[in-house]
Amino acid sequence: MSCEWNKDVKTPYVDENCIGCGACVAICGDVFDLDDEWKAFAKEWMNSCTSEGIDDAIWACPVNSIHYKG
Ligand code: SF4
Repeated sequence: MSCEWNKDVKTPYVDENCIGCGACVAICGDVFDLDDEWKAFAKEWMNSCTSEGIDDAIWACPVNSIHYKG
C-alpha cells in the first residue's frame, strides 16, 4: 500500500469500541497505530495514507470503530 500526502483525504479517527485487533495497522500503518493499551489511533495527518488505504481499514475493522471526522 503506497501512502502519500493527499490534501483531499478526510481525517479519520478511531472510537472507543476498538478491540485492538491490529487490522487497521496492518492495512494502513502510515495512518493507524496501537497505543500502550492496545487501542488504535490515527497518527498525525501529514503521514496519512491515500483515502483508499483508509477506506480499506474502515472496511476491515471488525467492530466498525474507524470513522471520518466532519
Ligand atoms: S481494525 Fe478496528 S478494532 Fe482493529 S485495531 Fe483497528 S480500529 Fe481497533
